[in-house]
Amino acid sequence: MKLIFEKSVPGRACTLLPDCDVPMAAIPETFVRKAPPHLPELSETDISRHYTELAKCVHGVNDGFYPLGSCTMKYNPALNEEMAGLAGFTGVHPLQPEHTVQGSLEVLAKAEEILCKVTGMDTMTFQPAAGAHGELTGLLLIKAYHRARGDAQRTKIIVPDSAHGTNPASASMTGFTVVNIPSGADGCVDLEKLRAAVGPDTAGLMLTNPNTLGLFDKNILEITRIVHEAGGLNYYDGANLNAVMGVARPGDMGFDVVHLNLHKTFSTPHGGGGPGSGAVGAKSLLAPFLPNRHVKCQGDFYAFEDAPQTIGSVKAFYGNFLVVVRALCYMLVLGEDGMRDASQMAVLNANYLKKLLEPHCEVANEGICMHEFVLTLEKLKKETGVSAMDVAKSMLDYGMHPPTMYFPLIVHEALMLEPTETESKETLDWAAGVIAEILEKAHTEPEALHNAPVTTPVGRPDEVAAARNPKLRAVFDA
Ligand SMILES: *Cc1c(COP(=O)(O)O)cnc(C)c1O
Repeated sequence: MKLIFEKSVPGRACTLLPDCDVPMAAIPETFVRKAPPHLPELSETDISRHYTELAKCVHGVNDGFYPLGSCTMKYNPALNEEMAGLAGFTGVHPLQPEHTVQGSLEVLAKAEEILCKVTGMDTMTFQPAAGAHGELTGLLLIKAYHRARGDAQRTKIIVPDSAHGTNPASASMTGFTVVNIPSGADGCVDLEKLRAAVGPDTAGLMLTNPNTLGLFDKNILEITRIVHEAGGLNYYDGANLNAVMGVARPGDMGFDVVHLNLHKTFSTPHGGGGPGSGAVGAKSLLAPFLPNRHVKCQGDFYAFEDAPQTIGSVKAFYGNFLVVVRALCYMLVLGEDGMRDASQMAVLNANYLKKLLEPHCEVANEGICMHEFVLTLEKLKKETGVSAMDVAKSMLDYGMHPPTMYFPLIVHEALMLEPTETESKETLDWAAGVIAEILEKAHTEPEALHNAPVTTPVGRPDEVAAARNPKLRAVFDA
């Protein structure tokens, strides 16, 4: 489609700005433009049609099935948006005095209270803007804790090989050395390997439970005990909380610090780079190190209380505040029972879809899964030459967003499906039918799958070139 600049017609315009109601002031010479800005000139209809056309080029959770494993692409209730759009939230300034923003501070305090209850943590910060940012923050807390105890030789973070790539990256960015431990044949942590890895240099362990294979580690209490006994702390990657919210708590599993992806589990929109919220919850032993500013209720007044040995700020002010508003709205609407139901439905939906697919392809791990599961198409690739990538691309022609691909790294030709709780039985039946049909086609018409998708605005872009040489802005003739 054409760029908005190419649709521009000189002299065409629509007046969207109100008349200026303050006196015009002269702009200092140094700031005055040398040439007029390059703005497209269009009518309101042209603009509306342009963006509607653009919106039709992408697949969102409101367009259709979006089983992107690990990302929890659940429906984002419209009510959340309405609440986040209230003038009382959008019209405040982060530097306003406390007494003028009591409602906004109450949102932060209330969200913290509920999420601490859900996770079994004692305190929480909403400053981090994403899960990976939460990891960095949580690891900085662990580092500060060991330093404050004069235990600075603890420089290693243990990460299982099933971990999300952000885990080792965050540990490395925090200045830790990453110790990778292989998973056992069952896809869970190998206890012997863990015992061999811990020592006086262990700062902590990073783990997601259920893990990226969608498996709840039955040895979780033993795992966290081994790390604690070695003097380390346990970090919970909460990206998979959608499987256990309201059912099991990381705090009870022996974790000291967690991040939550409010943009995954708590139904706030994500993708395309944010804004998100990687809220970090911690047990009280880490509270002195939290980023500032933290809201505390004193009697019936919400005020800021700064942590005495803070790691400093990881983002300006209170993080992406309106994301917290949306998440709080979601939690209040569902209530405690509703949140548990959501997790149970997510697990049920994943197991239902897995059962439907089992006759057609190989699942990476046997038995009951949690909220997601991983297919391995290694055999299909050997037999037909059709890869997980070809299968994923073909789904686009059916109006389905592909699952997460080639992750976790320990599974070959992986497709990771997470249907979430907001999908109906009809949708899951349809999706299983589509996948079965594509797998069948892999044997009969492999060429067609190598060329898919054929119905989307863009077919198969050169992904390496797109990543290495992105064209993010229009180039104009001089
Ligand atoms: C999404 C995810 C992360 C990172 O979260 P972002 O918000 O994308 O930074 C970390 N771990 C796991 C398991 C995830 O799925």
